[in-house]
Amino acid sequence: MQLWFEQALLPDGWRADVRVTVEQGRIAQVRSGVAPAPADERHGPAIPGLANVHSHAFQRGMAGLAERAAGEEAAGGGADGFWTWRDAMYRFVDRLDPEGLNAIAALAYIEMLESGFTRVGEFHYLHHDRDGRPYADRAAMSHAIAEAARISGIALTLLPVFYAHSGFGGIAPADGQRRFIHDLDGYAILMEGAGKALAGLEGAVLGVAPHSLRAVTSEELLQVAALRPHDPVHIHIAEQMAEVEACLEWSGQSPVEWLFDHAPVGSRWCLIHATHVTGEELDRIARSQAVVGLCPITEANLGDGLFPARAFLDKGGRMAIGSDSNVEIDAPGELRLLEYGQRLYHRSRNLLASGPGQSTGASLWRASRQGGAQALGAEAPAIAPGVPADIVAFRADDVAFTGRLGDAILDSWIFAGGKAMVDTVWRHGVKRVSEGRHVARPAIEARYRRTLGACRD
Ligand SMILES: [Zn+2]
Repeated sequence: MQLWFEQALLPDGWRADVRVTVEQGRIAQVRSGVAPAPADERHGPAIPGLANVHSHAFQRGMAGLAERAAGEEAAGGGADGFWTWRDAMYRFVDRLDPEGLNAIAALAYIEMLESGFTRVGEFHYLHHDRDGRPYADRAAMSHAIAEAARISGIALTLLPVFYAHSGFGGIAPADGQRRFIHDLDGYAILMEGAGKALAGLEGAVLGVAPHSLRAVTSEELLQVAALRPHDPVHIHIAEQMAEVEACLEWSGQSPVEWLFDHAPVGSRWCLIHATHVTGEELDRIARSQAVVGLCPITEANLGDGLFPARAFLDKGGRMAIGSDSNVEIDAPGELRLLEYGQRLYHRSRNLLASGPGQSTGASLWRASRQGGAQALGAEAPAIAPGVPADIVAFRADDVAFTGRLGDAILDSWIFAGGKAMVDTVWRHGVKRVSEGRHVARPAIEARYRRTLGACRD
Protein backbone atom coordinates (compact mmCIF):
# COMPACT_ATOMS: atom_id res chain seq x y z
CA MET A 1 0.00 0.00 0.00
CA GLN A 2 1.31 3.44 -0.94
CA LEU A 3 0.13 6.51 0.95
CA TRP A 4 1.04 10.10 0.21
CA PHE A 5 0.63 12.97 2.68
CA GLU A 6 0.94 16.66 1.90
CA GLN A 7 2.70 17.02 5.29
CA ALA A 8 3.67 14.41 7.88
CA LEU A 9 5.22 14.46 11.32
CA LEU A 10 8.34 12.25 11.05
CA PRO A 11 10.70 11.46 13.97
CA ASP A 12 12.91 14.45 13.07
CA GLY A 13 10.05 16.87 12.47
CA TRP A 14 7.49 17.86 9.87
CA ARG A 15 8.20 17.13 6.22
CA ALA A 16 6.25 17.97 3.07
CA ASP A 17 5.19 15.61 0.26
CA VAL A 18 5.71 12.39 2.17
CA ARG A 19 5.29 8.99 0.56
CA VAL A 20 4.81 6.04 2.92
CA THR A 21 4.97 2.38 1.88
CA VAL A 22 3.12 -0.02 4.16
CA GLU A 23 3.72 -3.77 4.07
CA GLN A 24 2.02 -6.31 6.32
CA GLY A 25 0.87 -3.66 8.75
CA ARG A 26 4.24 -2.01 9.15
CA ILE A 27 5.84 0.97 7.51
CA ALA A 28 8.43 -0.27 5.03
CA GLN A 29 9.65 3.02 3.60
CA VAL A 30 9.22 6.77 4.13
CA ARG A 31 10.38 9.38 1.63
CA SER A 32 9.74 13.09 1.76
CA GLY A 33 9.81 15.75 -0.94
CA VAL A 34 8.39 13.39 -3.54
CA ALA A 35 5.41 13.78 -5.84
CA PRO A 36 2.59 11.28 -5.47
CA ALA A 37 2.47 8.40 -7.96
CA PRO A 38 -0.84 8.00 -9.80
CA ALA A 39 -1.90 5.00 -7.69
CA ASP A 40 -1.00 6.56 -4.31
CA GLU A 41 -3.78 7.24 -1.86
CA ARG A 42 -3.50 11.00 -1.19
CA HIS A 43 -4.20 12.60 2.15
CA GLY A 44 -3.80 15.81 4.13
CA PRO A 45 -1.43 16.28 7.09
CA ALA A 46 -0.60 13.12 9.08
CA ILE A 47 0.70 12.25 12.54
CA PRO A 48 1.31 8.95 14.36
CA GLY A 49 -1.56 7.66 16.51
CA LEU A 50 -1.80 8.42 20.22
CA ALA A 51 -2.25 6.07 23.20
CA ASN A 52 -5.23 6.35 25.52
CA VAL A 53 -3.72 4.99 28.76
CA HIS A 54 -6.83 4.75 30.91
CA SER A 55 -10.29 3.57 29.90
CA HIS A 56 -13.22 1.91 31.62
CA ALA A 57 -15.01 1.11 28.38
CA PHE A 58 -18.39 0.15 29.89
CA GLN A 59 -18.76 3.62 31.41
CA ARG A 60 -19.31 4.96 27.87
CA GLY A 61 -22.82 3.56 28.28
CA MET A 62 -23.59 5.85 31.23
CA ALA A 63 -22.20 9.05 29.70
CA GLY A 64 -24.72 11.78 30.47
CA LEU A 65 -26.56 9.75 33.11
CA ALA A 66 -24.83 11.30 36.13
CA GLU A 67 -25.25 14.99 35.36
CA ARG A 68 -28.18 15.58 37.70
CA ALA A 69 -27.67 17.22 41.09
CA ALA A 70 -27.66 14.71 43.92
CA GLY A 71 -30.53 14.70 46.41
CA GLU A 72 -30.36 15.21 50.15
CA GLU A 73 -29.23 11.64 50.51
CA ALA A 74 -25.92 12.33 48.63
CA ALA A 75 -23.04 10.34 50.05
CA GLY A 76 -22.08 11.75 53.41
CA GLY A 77 -25.06 14.10 53.25
CA GLY A 78 -22.72 16.64 51.69
CA ALA A 79 -21.46 17.73 48.32
CA ASP A 80 -22.13 15.96 45.07
CA GLY A 81 -18.92 14.50 43.73
CA PHE A 82 -16.99 11.39 42.84
CA TRP A 83 -18.71 9.23 45.44
CA THR A 84 -22.28 10.02 44.26
CA TRP A 85 -21.10 9.44 40.68
CA ARG A 86 -19.70 6.10 41.80
CA ASP A 87 -23.11 5.09 43.19
CA ALA A 88 -24.66 5.81 39.78
CA MET A 89 -21.92 3.76 38.13
CA TYR A 90 -22.55 0.80 40.46
CA ARG A 91 -26.26 0.87 39.52
CA PHE A 92 -25.37 0.85 35.82
CA VAL A 93 -22.87 -1.98 36.27
CA ASP A 94 -25.54 -4.19 37.78
CA ARG A 95 -27.19 -4.69 34.40
CA LEU A 96 -24.26 -5.56 32.14
CA ASP A 97 -23.45 -9.01 30.78
CA PRO A 98 -20.54 -9.96 28.46
CA GLU A 99 -22.67 -9.25 25.37
CA GLY A 100 -23.62 -5.79 26.67
CA LEU A 101 -20.06 -4.99 27.70
CA ASN A 102 -18.83 -6.00 24.27
CA ALA A 103 -21.40 -3.79 22.51
CA ILE A 104 -20.53 -0.73 24.63
CA ALA A 105 -16.76 -1.28 24.45
CA ALA A 106 -16.91 -1.64 20.66
CA LEU A 107 -18.61 1.76 20.42
CA ALA A 108 -16.11 3.34 22.82
CA TYR A 109 -13.20 1.91 20.85
CA ILE A 110 -14.38 3.09 17.43
CA GLU A 111 -14.91 6.56 18.91
CA MET A 112 -11.35 6.46 20.25
CA LEU A 113 -10.03 5.65 16.79
CA GLU A 114 -12.19 8.40 15.28
CA SER A 115 -10.66 10.95 17.64
CA GLY A 116 -7.00 9.97 17.00
CA PHE A 117 -6.25 7.25 19.55
CA THR A 118 -4.81 4.01 18.11
CA ARG A 119 -4.15 2.08 21.35
CA VAL A 120 -6.16 1.80 24.54
CA GLY A 121 -5.21 0.72 28.04
CA GLU A 122 -8.34 -0.96 29.35
CA PHE A 123 -8.39 -0.85 33.15
CA HIS A 124 -10.85 -3.66 33.33
CA TYR A 125 -12.54 -4.38 36.67
CA LEU A 126 -15.99 -5.74 35.78
CA HIS A 127 -15.35 -9.48 35.92
CA HIS A 128 -18.17 -11.49 37.51
CA ASP A 129 -21.83 -12.28 36.94
CA ARG A 130 -24.57 -10.07 38.44
CA ASP A 131 -24.71 -12.05 41.69
CA GLY A 132 -20.95 -11.73 42.14
CA ARG A 133 -20.19 -15.31 41.16
CA PRO A 134 -17.48 -15.91 38.55
CA TYR A 135 -18.69 -16.79 35.07
CA ALA A 136 -18.00 -20.39 33.99
CA ASP A 137 -15.09 -18.88 32.08
CA ARG A 138 -13.69 -16.47 34.65
CA ALA A 139 -12.32 -14.32 31.84
CA ALA A 140 -15.66 -14.01 29.99
CA MET A 141 -15.65 -10.23 30.43
CA SER A 142 -11.99 -10.04 29.31
CA HIS A 143 -13.00 -11.92 26.16
CA ALA A 144 -15.74 -9.32 25.61
CA ILE A 145 -13.14 -6.54 25.80
CA ALA A 146 -10.66 -8.36 23.53
CA GLU A 147 -13.44 -8.98 21.01
CA ALA A 148 -14.38 -5.27 21.04
CA ALA A 149 -10.74 -4.42 20.31
CA ARG A 150 -10.72 -6.94 17.46
CA ILE A 151 -13.95 -5.59 15.91
CA SER A 152 -12.81 -1.98 16.17
CA GLY A 153 -9.17 -2.61 15.26
CA ILE A 154 -7.75 -0.57 18.15
CA ALA A 155 -4.56 -1.93 19.74
CA LEU A 156 -5.28 -3.21 23.24
CA THR A 157 -3.26 -3.23 26.44
CA LEU A 158 -5.53 -5.21 28.75
CA LEU A 159 -5.11 -4.44 32.43
CA PRO A 160 -7.29 -6.88 34.40
CA VAL A 161 -7.97 -5.28 37.77
CA PHE A 162 -7.30 -6.88 41.11
CA TYR A 163 -9.88 -5.55 43.58
CA ALA A 164 -10.32 -7.14 47.00
CA HIS A 165 -11.36 -4.54 49.59
CA SER A 166 -13.54 -1.47 50.03
CA GLY A 167 -11.14 0.63 52.09
CA PHE A 168 -7.62 1.01 53.44
CA GLY A 169 -6.41 -1.79 55.68
CA GLY A 170 -8.21 -4.66 53.98
CA ILE A 171 -11.84 -3.76 54.77
CA ALA A 172 -14.37 -6.26 53.37
CA PRO A 173 -15.83 -5.30 49.97
CA ALA A 174 -19.26 -3.66 49.69
CA ASP A 175 -22.19 -5.32 47.91
CA GLY A 176 -21.97 -2.88 44.98
CA GLN A 177 -18.43 -4.15 44.34
CA ARG A 178 -19.35 -7.87 44.14
CA ARG A 179 -18.72 -8.08 40.41
CA PHE A 180 -15.13 -6.81 40.79
CA ILE A 181 -13.76 -8.93 43.63
CA HIS A 182 -10.97 -11.55 43.56
CA ASP A 183 -8.60 -13.25 45.94
CA LEU A 184 -5.07 -13.84 44.68
CA ASP A 185 -5.78 -17.38 43.49
CA GLY A 186 -8.86 -16.30 41.59
CA TYR A 187 -6.92 -13.41 40.05
CA ALA A 188 -4.18 -15.77 38.83
CA ILE A 189 -6.87 -17.82 37.06
CA LEU A 190 -8.34 -14.63 35.60
CA MET A 191 -4.92 -13.58 34.28
CA GLU A 192 -4.46 -16.93 32.61
CA GLY A 193 -7.86 -16.55 30.93
CA ALA A 194 -7.11 -12.94 29.95
CA GLY A 195 -3.91 -14.14 28.26
CA LYS A 196 -6.00 -16.59 26.24
CA ALA A 197 -8.47 -13.83 25.35
CA LEU A 198 -5.61 -11.85 23.79
CA ALA A 199 -4.27 -14.77 21.74
CA GLY A 200 -4.22 -13.83 18.07
CA LEU A 201 -5.06 -10.18 18.76
CA GLU A 202 -2.44 -8.20 16.88
CA GLY A 203 -0.27 -5.96 19.08
CA ALA A 204 -2.03 -6.93 22.32
CA VAL A 205 -0.22 -6.47 25.65
CA LEU A 206 -1.24 -7.86 29.03
CA GLY A 207 -0.48 -5.99 32.23
CA VAL A 208 -1.82 -5.91 35.78
CA ALA A 209 -3.84 -3.34 37.68
CA PRO A 210 -4.12 -3.34 41.45
CA HIS A 211 -7.20 -1.09 41.54
CA SER A 212 -6.10 1.40 44.19
CA LEU A 213 -4.60 1.40 47.67
CA ARG A 214 -8.19 1.25 48.97
CA ALA A 215 -8.73 -2.09 47.24
CA VAL A 216 -5.53 -4.05 47.99
CA THR A 217 -3.34 -4.85 50.99
CA SER A 218 0.42 -4.31 50.78
CA GLU A 219 1.01 -8.03 50.34
CA GLU A 220 -1.59 -8.28 47.60
CA LEU A 221 -0.11 -5.24 45.86
CA LEU A 222 3.35 -6.82 45.72
CA GLN A 223 2.04 -10.20 44.58
CA VAL A 224 -0.11 -8.71 41.83
CA ALA A 225 2.77 -6.53 40.56
CA ALA A 226 5.08 -9.58 40.57
CA LEU A 227 2.72 -11.72 38.50
CA ARG A 228 4.05 -10.21 35.27
CA PRO A 229 7.40 -8.74 36.21
CA HIS A 230 8.12 -6.97 32.92
CA ASP A 231 4.69 -5.73 31.94
CA PRO A 232 2.69 -2.59 32.77
CA VAL A 233 1.33 -2.02 36.29
CA HIS A 234 -1.45 0.55 36.55
CA ILE A 235 -3.04 1.85 39.74
CA HIS A 236 -5.50 4.64 40.61
CA ILE A 237 -3.92 6.95 43.14
CA ALA A 238 -4.67 10.20 45.02
CA GLU A 239 -7.66 11.08 42.83
CA GLN A 240 -9.83 12.28 45.69
CA MET A 241 -9.09 14.27 48.85
CA ALA A 242 -11.27 11.86 50.84
CA GLU A 243 -8.98 9.06 49.69
CA VAL A 244 -5.83 10.99 50.69
CA GLU A 245 -7.33 11.76 54.12
CA ALA A 246 -8.40 8.15 54.68
CA CYS A 247 -4.91 6.95 53.77
CA LEU A 248 -3.32 9.47 56.17
CA GLU A 249 -5.63 8.34 58.94
CA TRP A 250 -4.90 4.67 58.28
CA SER A 251 -1.13 4.81 57.73
CA GLY A 252 0.10 8.28 58.64
CA GLN A 253 1.20 8.64 55.04
CA SER A 254 -0.38 10.00 51.87
CA PRO A 255 -1.17 7.44 49.13
CA VAL A 256 1.86 8.35 47.00
CA GLU A 257 4.25 8.26 50.00
CA TRP A 258 2.82 4.94 51.08
CA LEU A 259 3.06 3.45 47.60
CA PHE A 260 6.69 4.44 47.12
CA ASP A 261 7.62 3.10 50.57
CA HIS A 262 5.90 -0.24 49.94
CA ALA A 263 6.26 -1.07 46.24
CA PRO A 264 9.10 -1.04 43.69
CA VAL A 265 7.61 1.74 41.57
CA GLY A 266 9.55 2.17 38.34
CA SER A 267 9.20 2.74 34.63
CA ARG A 268 6.59 0.01 34.05
CA TRP A 269 4.23 1.70 36.49
CA CYS A 270 1.47 4.11 35.53
CA LEU A 271 -0.06 6.18 38.32
CA ILE A 272 -3.55 7.16 37.27
CA HIS A 273 -4.63 10.70 38.31
CA ALA A 274 -2.11 11.44 41.12
CA THR A 275 -4.14 14.62 41.45
CA HIS A 276 -3.44 15.51 45.07
CA VAL A 277 0.33 15.38 45.47
CA THR A 278 3.01 17.46 47.16
CA GLY A 279 6.18 18.78 45.49
CA GLU A 280 8.19 16.10 47.21
CA GLU A 281 5.83 13.41 45.89
CA LEU A 282 6.19 14.84 42.37
CA ASP A 283 9.97 14.47 42.77
CA ARG A 284 9.65 10.85 43.74
CA ILE A 285 7.32 10.06 40.85
CA ALA A 286 9.57 11.85 38.34
CA ARG A 287 12.72 10.12 39.64
CA SER A 288 11.05 6.71 39.44
CA GLN A 289 10.36 7.23 35.69
CA ALA A 290 6.79 6.05 36.25
CA VAL A 291 4.20 7.68 33.99
CA VAL A 292 1.34 9.73 35.43
CA GLY A 293 -1.86 8.94 33.54
CA LEU A 294 -3.93 12.12 33.40
CA CYS A 295 -7.60 12.09 32.41
CA PRO A 296 -8.48 15.80 32.22
CA ILE A 297 -12.06 15.49 30.89
CA THR A 298 -13.08 12.89 33.47
CA GLU A 299 -11.21 14.67 36.28
CA ALA A 300 -13.12 17.85 35.38
CA ASN A 301 -16.41 15.96 35.08
CA LEU A 302 -15.95 14.36 38.51
CA GLY A 303 -14.65 17.52 40.16
CA ASP A 304 -11.46 15.73 41.21
CA GLY A 305 -9.05 18.64 41.24
CA LEU A 306 -6.05 19.68 39.20
CA PHE A 307 -2.74 17.85 38.79
CA PRO A 308 0.29 20.19 39.02
CA ALA A 309 1.38 19.35 35.48
CA ARG A 310 3.73 22.30 34.97
CA ALA A 311 5.68 21.55 38.14
CA PHE A 312 5.82 17.85 37.23
CA LEU A 313 7.20 18.47 33.74
CA ASP A 314 9.80 20.84 35.23
CA LYS A 315 11.05 17.89 37.27
CA GLY A 316 11.36 15.75 34.14
CA GLY A 317 8.13 13.86 34.89
CA ARG A 318 6.53 11.57 32.33
CA MET A 319 2.85 11.85 31.50
CA ALA A 320 0.19 10.38 29.27
CA ILE A 321 -3.53 10.94 28.74
CA GLY A 322 -6.58 8.75 29.21
CA SER A 323 -10.30 8.99 28.61
CA ASP A 324 -11.17 7.16 31.88
CA SER A 325 -14.97 7.38 32.30
CA ASN A 326 -15.42 7.98 28.56
CA VAL A 327 -18.07 10.63 29.30
CA GLU A 328 -16.59 12.20 26.16
CA ILE A 329 -14.03 10.53 23.91
CA ASP A 330 -11.75 13.15 22.48
CA ALA A 331 -7.95 12.87 22.10
CA PRO A 332 -7.30 16.54 21.25
CA GLY A 333 -9.91 17.58 23.84
CA GLU A 334 -7.97 15.82 26.62
CA LEU A 335 -4.77 17.64 25.63
CA ARG A 336 -6.59 20.97 25.36
CA LEU A 337 -8.18 20.67 28.80
CA LEU A 338 -4.87 19.56 30.31
CA GLU A 339 -3.37 22.86 29.18
CA TYR A 340 -6.45 24.97 29.95
CA GLY A 341 -6.63 23.68 33.51
CA GLN A 342 -3.10 24.94 34.08
CA ARG A 343 -3.93 28.28 32.40
CA LEU A 344 -6.98 28.85 34.59
CA TYR A 345 -5.05 27.98 37.73
CA HIS A 346 -1.85 29.93 36.97
CA ARG A 347 -3.59 32.75 35.04
CA SER A 348 -1.03 32.47 32.29
CA ARG A 349 -0.72 30.93 28.80
CA ASN A 350 1.21 28.16 27.04
CA LEU A 351 2.16 26.56 30.33
CA LEU A 352 2.91 23.07 29.08
CA ALA A 353 5.08 24.11 26.13
CA SER A 354 8.46 22.41 26.40
CA GLY A 355 10.43 25.67 26.22
CA PRO A 356 10.50 29.23 24.92
CA GLY A 357 9.15 29.48 21.41
CA GLN A 358 7.92 25.87 21.44
CA SER A 359 4.45 24.89 20.28
CA THR A 360 2.19 23.96 23.18
CA GLY A 361 0.18 21.51 21.09
CA ALA A 362 3.30 19.75 19.82
CA SER A 363 4.79 19.63 23.34
CA LEU A 364 1.60 18.12 24.79
CA TRP A 365 1.34 15.65 21.94
CA ARG A 366 4.99 14.54 22.07
CA ALA A 367 4.96 14.02 25.84
CA SER A 368 1.72 12.02 25.65
CA ARG A 369 2.94 9.92 22.75
CA GLN A 370 6.11 8.91 24.56
CA GLY A 371 4.52 8.45 27.98
CA GLY A 372 1.53 6.65 26.52
CA ALA A 373 3.62 4.05 24.72
CA GLN A 374 5.76 3.48 27.82
CA ALA A 375 2.74 3.10 30.08
CA LEU A 376 1.05 0.62 27.74
CA GLY A 377 4.15 -1.50 27.11
CA ALA A 378 4.07 -0.75 23.39
CA GLU A 379 6.28 0.71 20.68
CA ALA A 380 5.78 4.48 20.38
CA PRO A 381 3.96 5.05 17.08
CA ALA A 382 6.03 6.90 14.51
CA ILE A 383 5.95 7.50 10.78
CA ALA A 384 9.19 5.63 10.31
CA PRO A 385 10.35 2.35 8.76
CA GLY A 386 9.83 -0.78 10.85
CA VAL A 387 7.09 0.70 13.03
CA PRO A 388 3.42 -0.43 12.93
CA ALA A 389 1.45 1.78 10.55
CA ASP A 390 -0.71 3.54 13.16
CA ILE A 391 -1.37 6.81 11.37
CA VAL A 392 -3.92 9.62 11.76
CA ALA A 393 -4.54 11.86 8.75
CA PHE A 394 -6.49 15.11 8.98
CA ARG A 395 -8.92 16.58 6.48
CA ALA A 396 -6.82 18.17 3.78
CA ASP A 397 -9.49 20.76 3.08
CA ASP A 398 -10.39 21.64 6.70
CA VAL A 399 -10.64 25.40 6.90
CA ALA A 400 -8.86 25.40 10.27
CA PHE A 401 -5.68 24.22 8.53
CA THR A 402 -5.61 27.11 6.04
CA GLY A 403 -2.06 28.42 5.95
CA ARG A 404 -0.94 26.07 8.72
CA LEU A 405 2.40 24.31 8.48
CA GLY A 406 4.36 22.08 10.85
CA ASP A 407 3.56 22.29 14.57
CA ALA A 408 0.82 24.84 13.85
CA ILE A 409 -1.12 21.82 12.55
CA LEU A 410 -1.02 20.21 16.00
CA ASP A 411 -1.91 23.52 17.65
CA SER A 412 -4.84 24.01 15.25
CA TRP A 413 -6.08 20.46 15.85
CA ILE A 414 -5.80 20.61 19.64
CA PHE A 415 -6.88 24.21 20.30
CA ALA A 416 -9.11 25.09 17.34
CA GLY A 417 -10.63 22.45 15.09
CA GLY A 418 -10.71 19.48 17.47
CA LYS A 419 -11.48 15.86 16.77
CA ALA A 420 -13.77 16.61 13.82
CA MET A 421 -10.59 17.34 11.83
CA VAL A 422 -9.61 13.65 11.84
CA ASP A 423 -10.26 12.15 8.43
CA THR A 424 -8.53 8.76 8.10
CA VAL A 425 -6.99 6.42 10.67
CA TRP A 426 -4.94 3.33 9.93
CA ARG A 427 -4.11 0.85 12.65
CA HIS A 428 -1.48 -1.72 11.83
CA GLY A 429 -1.89 -0.70 8.21
CA VAL A 430 -5.66 -1.30 8.10
CA LYS A 431 -7.88 1.67 7.35
CA ARG A 432 -10.32 1.78 10.25
CA VAL A 433 -11.61 5.35 9.95
CA SER A 434 -12.51 6.97 6.66
CA GLU A 435 -13.93 10.50 6.27
CA GLY A 436 -14.05 10.79 10.05
CA ARG A 437 -16.21 7.69 10.58
CA HIS A 438 -15.17 4.21 11.62
CA VAL A 439 -15.88 1.86 8.74
CA ALA A 440 -17.90 -0.48 11.01
CA ARG A 441 -19.79 2.34 12.78
CA PRO A 442 -23.30 1.58 11.46
CA ALA A 443 -23.31 -2.03 12.71
CA ILE A 444 -21.57 -1.22 16.01
CA GLU A 445 -23.90 1.71 16.65
CA ALA A 446 -26.98 -0.42 15.95
CA ARG A 447 -25.84 -3.07 18.40
CA TYR A 448 -25.05 -0.42 21.03
CA ARG A 449 -28.56 1.03 20.68
CA ARG A 450 -30.16 -2.40 21.18
CA THR A 451 -27.95 -3.13 24.20
CA LEU A 452 -28.50 0.17 25.90
CA GLY A 453 -32.22 0.02 25.31
CA ALA A 454 -32.18 -3.22 27.32
CA CYS A 455 -30.10 -1.60 30.09
CA ARG A 456 -32.41 1.36 30.70
CA ASP A 457 -33.97 1.93 34.12
ZN1 LIG B 1 -10.24 5.07 36.35
